[in-house]
Amino acid sequence: MALSPDRLDRFARHIVLPEIGGPGQVALANRHLVLVGLGGIGSPALQYLAGAGIGRLTLIDDDRVDASNLQRQTLYNTRDIGHGKAVIAKRWVTGFDPALDVSISDGRITPDNAGGLVEEADLVLDGTDNFATRLAVSDACVRADVPLLSAAVGRFQGQVGTFAGHLADQACYRCFVGDAFDAEDCDSCAEDGMLGAMAGWVGTFAAMQAVRVLLDGISGFGDPQWGTVQLLDGMKPAMRSFNIAKDPRCRGCGSAA
Ligand SMILES: [Zn+2]
Repeated sequence: MALSPDRLDRFARHIVLPEIGGPGQVALANRHLVLVGLGGIGSPALQYLAGAGIGRLTLIDDDRVDASNLQRQTLYNTRDIGHGKAVIAKRWVTGFDPALDVSISDGRITPDNAGGLVEEADLVLDGTDNFATRLAVSDACVRADVPLLSAAVGRFQGQVGTFAGHLADQACYRCFVGDAFDAEDCDSCAEDGMLGAMAGWVGTFAAMQAVRVLLDGISGFGDPQWGTVQLLDGMKPAMRSFNIAKDPRCRGCGSAA
């Protein structure tokens, strides 16, 4: 598939990069990314993912816009308060680039419905704020053979990791965090606070890592770095990374799964 003249113009700054190029841009147009969570991480992530021309996007969030979101959730305006985030996010994408195929789900993601929501994805990006949802998404990704990019932020600390727990030698998100949070909603954003730009840093970095995963095997930038978690420290500021090994006893991806 060749890019049309207007798409060549739109993505010119990508296409001149040897690490992405025409083949990379065509690949992005053919990819399907499922974005879970349209909050402080999902908002800036979606803006850069749509900007990157990822051709098919599924947006999942059951929340409504609250005045306290506007400090960091860059998709929403004052007039959006009280309206559903998924609907507004879809409207934003459609206005930004009508060539992208966008669908939404505005119900709560659970262990029962997560499988159906992720099964057609090339990549799932999870930017939700609680462990119960993250683990449900992770377990569904492992079962559906779909890689997971997990991003989280609190106060001045962020983490972004790529997981391919469906592969025999790679960790899943549950290998990383364990089972301790399975039943608990550990959302502490409201109590702990968060610098708005910190969520923006994590969200845009997650978008960059998503492009890296989606170009695996296509062009030079493609390198999923499975099992690597990047820690973003907004106080110093600094970044560091570490690797997660597969836990053979993991309930999500191990032999006990
Ligand atoms: Zn695992």
